[in-house]
Amino acid sequence: MSQADVTDTDPPVIEIRDLHKSFGNLEVLKGVDMTAPRGHVIALIGSSGSGKSTLLRCANLLEDSQQGEILFEGEPIRWRGEGAGRHPADRAQVTRIRTNLSMVFQQFNLWSHMSILQNVMEAPVTVLGRDKAEVEAAARGYLDKVGIGDKCEAWPAQLSGGQQQRAAIARALCMEPRALLFDEPTSALDPELEQEVIKVIKDLATEGRTMIIVTHDMRLAADVADHVVFLHLGKIEEEGPPEAVFGNPQTERLQQFLSHGA
Ligand code: ADP
Ligand code: MG
Repeated sequence: MSQADVTDTDPPVIEIRDLHKSFGNLEVLKGVDMTAPRGHVIALIGSSGSGKSTLLRCANLLEDSQQGEILFEGEPIRWRGEGAGRHPADRAQVTRIRTNLSMVFQQFNLWSHMSILQNVMEAPVTVLGRDKAEVEAAARGYLDKVGIGDKCEAWPAQLSGGQQQRAAIARALCMEPRALLFDEPTSALDPELEQEVIKVIKDLATEGRTMIIVTHDMRLAADVADHVVFLHLGKIEEEGPPEAVFGNPQTERLQQFLSHGA
């Protein structure tokens, strides 16, 4: 579907092996494996509370995990300590990985005191130390690409939800990340605004971008994903190509989940 020119020897952008994550006594991820090969789109589905957001946040190291491996382009995260005391050992590695896995959140999380253009330019300039004029040109280009090139000077509060989310996507793209991680990017939007964001996500899939998309929108998952992962109570209950997961679900839990709507 959206497979870019990838060779089999390219390591996956993200590979997660047997990941365990607890909040205190609550074990939220109970041994999860997930791989995002370069140029592929992974959709992550499951009921509320099944651990989808936690898995994304562990993948880009916004959350610590207690057991299992995370590899970024074949490079394993180096840990220090064990179990509840386990943390990434190398801050520079964390920064590099986090800046290469750009996250788009349900609530956009734009900085309200900055213009849209400043929002998009901020991290590439301050975190990556890129040249301001070059970043500005790139930022304007990404805002054009998501269809709000005329909103550069606007404040976030002056934009609709759909426009704010597209600005958040432009901000993520301006980091020139190796993958984009979306956490329910359309859940906060009215149905008519949802479509403008879905169109942008579909365009990115067509370009061959590597993406992991947590979504309640089964049509979006079916349209853009190469691989669908169904998470249930912290474990992968079923996974496969969208035709199989949606067309011929094997487990009762997935059948129930799909028939009740997401
Ligand atoms: P999903 O995104 O699939 O709805 P989450 O990953 O947000 O699920 O949450 C999975 C479980 O972890 C839920 O039971 C939730 O209450 C719990 N949880 C998530 N974040 C925290 C946190 N920071 N502290 C304690 N519990 C949390
Ligand atoms: Mg969530």
